This record gives sequence, C-alpha cells and structure tokens, in this order.
Amino acid sequence: MKSDNYRSWIEVDFGRLESNVSKIKASLPAGVKYIAVVKADAYGHCMPQALMRFLRGGADLFAVANLYEASRVREIVSDRQVLVLSPILAEERPLVFDYAATPAVSSLQEAEAFAKLARARGKILGVQIKVDTGMGRAGVWHEEAEEVIPKILSVDGIRVDGMFSHLSSADSDRNFTEKQCDILKQIALKYGKAGMLFHIHNSAAMRYIPISYPFNAVRMGLIQYGINPYDDGGGYADLKLQPVLEFKARVLAVGERDGLKIATVGAGYADGVPSGFTESARVLAGGVRCPILGPVGLDEMTISISGAGDVKVGDPVTFIGSQDGSEISLSDYSRWTRRIPWETMVAIPRRVNRLLKY
Ligand SMILES: *Cc1c(COP(=O)(O)O)cnc(C)c1O
Repeated sequence: MKSDNYRSWIEVDFGRLESNVSKIKASLPAGVKYIAVVKADAYGHCMPQALMRFLRGGADLFAVANLYEASRVREIVSDRQVLVLSPILAEERPLVFDYAATPAVSSLQEAEAFAKLARARGKILGVQIKVDTGMGRAGVWHEEAEEVIPKILSVDGIRVDGMFSHLSSADSDRNFTEKQCDILKQIALKYGKAGMLFHIHNSAAMRYIPISYPFNAVRMGLIQYGINPYDDGGGYADLKLQPVLEFKARVLAVGERDGLKIATVGAGYADGVPSGFTESARVLAGGVRCPILGPVGLDEMTISISGAGDVKVGDPVTFIGSQDGSEISLSDYSRWTRRIPWETMVAIPRRVNRLLKY
C-alpha cells in the first residue's frame, strides 16, 4: 500500500507491535497469562488486522470493552477467551453465547441472569467476577465479597474462570494501588479455585507491582503500543518498547505571510488534530521541528517552515513519528494537545487513512 494520494494518514507498524507483545510476554514469570487489551479498535491500531500480531507475539487471551468488539475478535480468533470488561446490558446478554464471549459479572443477580440463559441453552457459561477494590465503577464491592462471591460460585449454569479488578490510579497513587492489589489478593486466596485467572496489572502497574502469587495473568493495554504511561518516561527499560503509530499529513500549499515561509497542511480537527495546541507544539516538516501558526481549521492548518529548508507541495508533515532522524513522540503530541496518550490513540477519526506496515 502507498500513501501518495493520502492527505492525512496514520501508519501502523505491525512488526513493532508484534515485537512489543513478544517482549512483554517474555518478561512475564512462567505460567502467567497475557491478556491483550484490544478495545477501541486496539487503541486505534486497526483491530481485526492487528489480532494476528498479538497472537504471534504470544497473547493468550483478549479483552474488549463491549460485545460488539467481542464479535469482531471472534470473527478472526476462535480458540481464545474473549473477556468483556464493561457491564453488559440485559438486552445484550444472549449475544454472549453467539460470540462465545466471557462476561465480567458484578453481582449475584447478573450471574443468575446469565446462568438462566445458559441453562435454557443446555450450556455452562464461563464468566469472570469483577471485584471493585476502590475504582468505584462496576464490580462486586470488595466489602461485600464475603457475602456475594460464595453465592456466585455456587450458581448452577455458570463456571467462574477468573477474578479481577481494575486499578484506578496506578500511574499516580502507589499506596492506593498497592492497597487495591492486596484486597484482590486476599479475595483470590480466600475464594479462588485452581484453574482460575487472577489479574489486576495494567500497563502502569507493571512498572512496580511484582507479578506474584496468586496473580497469574496481566491485562496489557498502552505499553503494547509502545507508549510509556508515565510522563517521566521511566521504567520498562528492559522491554525496549517501540512506538507503533505514526500520524502524518501532506503539504497542500506553500507561501509567505508577514515575511515567514508558511505551509498549509491537509489535516484539521476533522482529522482529529485538536484546535487547541499549546505554544510549545511542533510538527516535523523537511526533517525540522516547525511551529504551528494560528488556529487549526476543520480540514487544514498552517505551519511556519522558515527554518525548514525546501518544503514542497506534497511533502509529508509528521505530527507523531520520525522524519530524517528527528522525532515527535505520541507523548509529546499528547502533552501539546492537553490529552493523555490513551486519548490521542483513540481520537483519530475514520477520515484519516490507515496505512498498515506488515
Ligand atoms: C483498558 C483496560 C486495561 C488496560 O489498561 P492500560 O492502562 O492501557 O494498560 C486493563 N484493564 C481494564 C479493566 C481496562 O478497562
């Protein structure tokens, strides 16, 4: 595939994705399962096509946010558990069987509703119990675990395949995170059975929470895509992660304004470039960091190319990625657009072409 006729596009380097996944996998203690979080179109990295790379890199299971995403994984992957992390609406529950998805249940009532559907189909449905250890969203509230979890475990028609919890602030509050881990650990030790998965680690927790008994799986999101969740860029050195996504657009016109050489670039806020860049924001043109001039329009924006040598119509402009040895990281771009990296990845709309590098 070539990008010659694209005005704005992302490039997704599947070789790097696979290598990130395999390095993360290799870093896990023996026997720990790798749950690849591929919600939101694999964080904007073209989900159905990317799945094969997660498998080749060593992912054992997949996690998505909802049943629609589960169905898209199932089209490609038939032999791996697909865990649905967010609550499933009552009307959607029968689809769990169509897609062979594993729901996360947060209450006895929900477990019983799934069990009833399973019994009507003559099946046993695998589920995982979501425990709320402090996030304050879905999940069995940990203080009610003693009352609720034994009852869920004895519901006829379901089989509990795991227990997990989501960390609310792994990148900012170490004490609270350690507390959350300890709460899930105690619950797993008390109610867990052989063969179940117990997992709490997200990307940020991988930096400092040891993966130790009884935890036997991790849920990996951001770092798979080569991005460090921390502003300080520290940790993860052993993994040598490589960024997977680049974001580019083409120069549509060059000219002069107030004695400055300027270029009109074919990307605007309809391409996901936010209208509110900070002063320090730069893009790469002619291999040089160039400042942004004036407000970003719907389809276009203007940059100063005074310091950039010979920039011509049709040349690429890089928002995220490298050019002639200079680089703008997704973390830089996120900071300049007042977004967090997760938000940057999922905020690139369909209008922007996808160039997959195999
Ligand atoms: C999205 C998500 C993850 C992955 O988080 P990262 O910070 O991107 O690694 C893990 N667990 C749950 C429940 C999630 O929703």
